[in-house]
Amino acid sequence: MRAVVVVDMQKDFCHPDGALYVGDHVREIFEPTRKVVEFARKNGIPVIFTQDWHREDDPEFEIWPKHCLAGSEGAEVIDELDPKPNDYYVKKRRYSAFFATDLDLTLRELGVKELLICGVVTNICVLHTVADAIMRGYGVTVLEDCVAALSEEDQRYGIRHMREVLRARILKSDELLRE
Ligand code: ZN
Repeated sequence: MRAVVVVDMQKDFCHPDGALYVGDHVREIFEPTRKVVEFARKNGIPVIFTQDWHREDDPEFEIWPKHCLAGSEGAEVIDELDPKPNDYYVKKRRYSAFFATDLDLTLRELGVKELLICGVVTNICVLHTVADAIMRGYGVTVLEDCVAALSEEDQRYGIRHMREVLRARILKSDELLRE
């Protein structure tokens, strides 16, 4: 069983007026990610949205500007991906979507062995989530055209690290949809 994990596609990261906007190039991943999500729903593959979800006084704000405050509009998953009530939502306080969340429990209950990863940002929350997934024994495919970083250098580094060090499979979304 596979699951699509969409990492932190939230308004604060993905919209120009968001608190920690990735940049205009993030728009390029909306359409391929939406197609992957639709493909998953049509094929009975669970769709899991992770959401960065912070208190006002979160220590992470010593590193980054305030973003994704719990319950705020900026913390909502973007409408462009058409999130549905019966998708899964995992709130996270740290880079990894596995750390101190019920993601692992949810995946085990669903019988999921392989993750298809989309989202932002490639070298931070995506990379740490992929690393934790691999350390837990999940198979991981990262959809290269469905992840974005703050810079091209960060994107290249993130993809290379996931491919060469973590040994995740790196694939384009249309290659996945053709399979
Ligand atoms: Zn955060």
